[in-house]
This record gives sequence, C-alpha cells and structure tokens, in this order.
Amino acid sequence: MSDVAALEDRLLAGDRRALARLLTLVEDGAVDVQREVVARLHPRAGRARLIGITGSPGVGKSSVSSALVATLRTRGRQVAVLAVDPSSPLTGGALLGDRIRMQAHHGDEGVFVRSMAARGHLGGLAAAVPAAALVLDAAGFDDVVLETVGVGQSEVDVAAMADTTLVVLAPGLGDGVQAAKAGILEVADVLVVNKADLPGAGRLESELRGMLELGHAVAIMPDVTWMPPILRTVAVRGEGMDVLCDAIGAHGAAHADAGGERRARARARRWIVELAAGRVRDVLTAPGGALDDRLEVLTGEVVARSLDPASAAERLIEGLR
Ligand code: GDP
Repeated sequence: MSDVAALEDRLLAGDRRALARLLTLVEDGAVDVQREVVARLHPRAGRARLIGITGSPGVGKSSVSSALVATLRTRGRQVAVLAVDPSSPLTGGALLGDRIRMQAHHGDEGVFVRSMAARGHLGGLAAAVPAAALVLDAAGFDDVVLETVGVGQSEVDVAAMADTTLVVLAPGLGDGVQAAKAGILEVADVLVVNKADLPGAGRLESELRGMLELGHAVAIMPDVTWMPPILRTVAVRGEGMDVLCDAIGAHGAAHADAGGERRARARARRWIVELAAGRVRDVLTAPGGALDDRLEVLTGEVVARSLDPASAAERLIEGLR
C-alpha cells in the first residue's frame, strides 16, 4: 500500500494527523504525489460547501471568518478554514496566523484551521489550493471556508473556487471605490459591510447598493435569479452572523439548480487546465525527457541567433502533438 493510500484510510477514519500530512503533501510534495492524492480523494469528495471570503486587507476578513465559524458550529456543522496567503513566502508567518486563528476555537474538534503561503513557487498555489480544499472536503467537513490573507490579486481566484463568495468591505477604507476598481463586486454573492459599528457604514452600504443596481444585471446575466444581499456585521462582537449564515444557505439553495452546475463545470475546467499546464511544463523541461534533445538543439539555434525564441517555442510545442 502506498503512503497516500494509508493516509487516505486514516483520513476517512477521522484522523487529524493524516489530514495535516495530506495537506502538506498537496502543498509542497512532489507533483506525482499531489496527483495521487487528488486521484484518490476526488471520488470521496463533493459534499462540502466551499465558502470564499475576500476583500482588502484590514476590512476584517479573519474576524468575519472566525465569527462565522462560531455560528456555523452552533448549527452543528463541522468547519475547516483554509487561509491562503499569496503574498507571503514565509511558512513562519502562516503558522503564526494559524495560532491566532485557532485561539477562538481552541479545543473544538469540529474546527480545523490551516494556512497556506505561496512559498515562492510560481503558480504553486493555483494547483495546491483546490487540492487542499479537496482533501478537507474528503475529510468530511460540512463547510470549507477559503479566506485570502495579505495582499495580492488572488481574490478573484478564490472566488472562482467557492460555491458562495463573501466580499467583505469596511467603512473608512475607501472600499466602495476600491471594490469597483478591482472588479470585486462581480464575484460577490454576498456583500458584507463589516465594522458596522463605525461611522460611514450606512454611506458605504448605499454606495454599494448604487453600484450593484448600475452594473449587476449585466454582470450576472446567467444568474439573474440571485441579487447579492448587502449585510452589516460587527465581526468582533459576532453581530450579524446568523443573518450571514442564512444568506449563505439561501445562495446555496438558489444555485442548487443549473447555476451550481455551471459553477462546478467552470471550476473543474479551470483546475484541469491548471494541472495540464503544469504537466506540459514538466514534459517540456524534464531532463532526458522526450523533448530534451529537441530543446537542446533549439536552444543552440536561439543562442546562435539563427532562430528566434518565439519560433523555437512553437517548434518545441509541435513535439507534444
Ligand atoms: P483582515 O486583514 O481583513 O483579515 O482583518 P482583521 O480581521 O485582521 O481585522 C482588522 C482589524 O479590524 C482588527 O484590528 C480587528 O479587531 C478590527 N475589526 C474587525 N472587525 C471589526 C468590527 O466589526 N468592528 C470594529 N470596530 N473593528 C473590527
């Protein structure tokens, strides 16, 4: 039995150490190990609800996430949190984040928290995050909360993975304008105006309402049955979380039909392309691989300037066909 097969058995039996180990394997294990994990666990997954939380730094995403987890727990749901930090190459930072996040739910077996940092590998998160979500899904969590931390352009990627995406904003950060610029409103299934205890929450809400009414009918044409609600929360006091949970449930119910299917297809398609692109890179660059000789020859020609790199790339790809 392979290591992964043994870990799978333990995972399905509820072993948290096996879960942690599998997450480490998909995060920074060898490509073939990652592939084995995905292949084995895919038939075991598909039940969890993926909730994406995104927004600018400081709006209160991790506070919302923590308060949401607490409320989901009161509803008897097992919850995993995957905090993705695309801006930090440091494991240490991620682990520190885990400790802070864990405090509120310490000792609760129904909550599992994990951070993933970019660790400097190019495109690594794009393959690793869906794989990690798959592992958590297979582990039997009812909800997997995917949260972006730090800065970066990966907000939209997390939204593309989630069943329901919460976009968190807060007054006083110029967020209404920021959101419009970043195109973040288009990915929102639920808009959360957090820090509703601070001045300006009402103004932010009406600003958002105006933007939604202007742009939304076009932006979500295939989803016209769903108009993103705008909800106010005070995450640090746990206020507004019941309404938020209900909105997530309502969104899920509204998409249980064709909309959900479309989302699942888009997600699967992205993931396949991501994995295929990684494979193509492996095949193209494998030392001693089928294309290695050809690459050597082309490299020589480019260096000698008898061939340009763009044409060389085309010829290399012909070798894949
Ligand atoms: P993140 O960077 O988006 O994850 O934001 P955090 O959750 O770390 O919160 C940023 C800061 O805002 C922290 O100091 C929080 O205590 C504070 N904060 C979060 N939610 C609220 C809220 O509802 N009201 C107020 N007044 N402060 C909040």
